[in-house]
Amino acid sequence: MQNCLFCKILEREITANIIYEDEQVIAFDDIQPQAPCHKLIIPRKHIATLNDVTVEDTYLTGHLFYVAQDLAKRLSTAEAGYRVVMNCNKAAGQAVYHIHLHLLGGRAFSWPPG
Ligand code: AMP
Ligand code: ZN
Repeated sequence: MQNCLFCKILEREITANIIYEDEQVIAFDDIQPQAPCHKLIIPRKHIATLNDVTVEDTYLTGHLFYVAQDLAKRLSTAEAGYRVVMNCNKAAGQAVYHIHLHLLGGRAFSWPPG
């Protein structure tokens, strides 16, 4: 998708520190980390928001979560605890319109979120 920041990262037009990739997804460091561990996991398929996910995408969205927990284990944050977040649309603060899971770890998180 033209003019999509995360598609540009997928196409290597914009540099990111990619820590994991497979046929369906890639994961990389968030450029403005909100926790000691802050990774983004994105599908190779451009999907603008969670509202645009179809039934055909359910394996893919499940895989995003699988990769999140696998990375949390590999990054040694799984046992202590971590948070995964997907913001959807303006009120939730979505800034990049290509779905992504935030994997946040390495500190305690409050609830309810701000
Ligand atoms: P969201 O607000 O849920 O759409 O999250 C977008 C995230 O993308 C934010 O946490 C940003 O810090 C992050 N971000 C923006 N540009 C880049 C980039 N070039 N490389 C890595 N992460 C980025
Ligand atoms: Zn995209």
